[in-house]
Amino acid sequence: MAQGVFLKDYIQALAEGRLLGQRCAACGAVTFPPKAVCAACGKAENAPVELSGQGELTTFTVCRVAPEGMTPPYIVAMAKLAEGPCVIGNLEGVAADDADMSLIGRRVRLGSKPAASRSYAVDQCRVLTFELE
Ligand SMILES: [Zn+2]
Repeated sequence: MAQGVFLKDYIQALAEGRLLGQRCAACGAVTFPPKAVCAACGKAENAPVELSGQGELTTFTVCRVAPEGMTPPYIVAMAKLAEGPCVIGNLEGVAADDADMSLIGRRVRLGSKPAASRSYAVDQCRVLTFELE
């Protein structure tokens, strides 16, 4: 039986600039971020897989009321990764007031940055980010 991805390994990979997901041995679907079971079929036979980080922006919103540690306004976006999963992260490098529908369909690269908040349970918590390619 294949082994999944542990949270500490996922966070360590993010800190190193790598995107650690998991591929299901039963159906082949890629799940990101890693979960206890495959997001497509629910089986727990998942092996670690490194993702390319390439994706296409599918939707976004501008956040003007921010949680602790975030400075509004900023853009929260969703992208469909080349390997299949849809991921939510902050779009960096674009001013929130400049965000418009021309962002939809743009190619993005997924990365991460340290979370600024001290409220999270995990000290090394990271925020997923996108940059336009
Ligand atoms: Zn599956």
